[in-house]
Amino acid sequence: MLTIGCHLSTTKGYTAMGETARSIGANTFAFFTRNPRGGNAKPLDLDDVAGLRSILDEDKFGRLVAHAPYTYNPCSAKERAREFALGAMAEDLQRMEALPGQLYNFHPGAHVGQGVDAGIELIVDALCRVMFEGQRTCVLLESMAGKGTEIGRTFDELARIIDGVEARRPELAGTDVLGVCLDTCHISDGGYDIVGDLDGVMAEFDRTVGLERLQAVHINDSKNPRGAHKDRHEVIGGGYLGNPELGGGECVLQAIVTHPALRDLPFILETPHDDLSGYAREIAYLRGLAG
Ligand code: FE
Ligand code: FE
Ligand code: ZN
Repeated sequence: MLTIGCHLSTTKGYTAMGETARSIGANTFAFFTRNPRGGNAKPLDLDDVAGLRSILDEDKFGRLVAHAPYTYNPCSAKERAREFALGAMAEDLQRMEALPGQLYNFHPGAHVGQGVDAGIELIVDALCRVMFEGQRTCVLLESMAGKGTEIGRTFDELARIIDGVEARRPELAGTDVLGVCLDTCHISDGGYDIVGDLDGVMAEFDRTVGLERLQAVHINDSKNPRGAHKDRHEVIGGGYLGNPELGGGECVLQAIVTHPALRDLPFILETPHDDLSGYAREIAYLRGLAG
């Protein structure tokens, strides 16, 4: 069965997220580890976390994909911004130990003119400092659209970050602690032809990063054509991936959810909907396509 869900609000707590997920036919979900605009995280209510853990067990959920606030920039040119991102990520990873075995994805960041090499170096440094031996959460680098000076648009950049961490901290080597989350809107925006040649794109990922590193998928349609570097998500079937009028189609979506390299991973919807019914519909639709 397809493991699929959407991004949920943490406002009512962890157990409530599990209940909501269940009510819309999801068997995974994503959530921000704290307010996406940054700021302090609420102290963890362990009873509430335990409530979620029993739902995950009972309903055989796949792994959850926690998301670091997108305002973190671990490769900022400003030391204060970097230190803020580092402190928050380190704390997030400690808190995630209360819910062991899940995924934690983050945006590698924007080098803001320092150059790709310098940016990658700062991200490697950040990961070496926030990850710890024995951590039970797998940290995922999200593939990015390449908006502005974003790092992580190419598979090569993602591979260089992973290689850098493993070279410097061999005790943190392994696919169980560091991997990649592919975002379908972002990779199309980044220039990869997942509409015309998904197999070719996945083969390239395998050659550069290694498919064993791939741990989650953000499944989003895109408001813009391939290579646009805009990062504007569209509802499933409404954009350049799934809409036949824009050169995509249902077969593209079906190819994604049934691809041997992807079909067993957690799929997270980050599509624009005003309420949960939109996600319930997309979950049912993609489950149908997965067969
Ligand atoms: Fe993201
Ligand atoms: Fe995403
Ligand atoms: Zn995005």
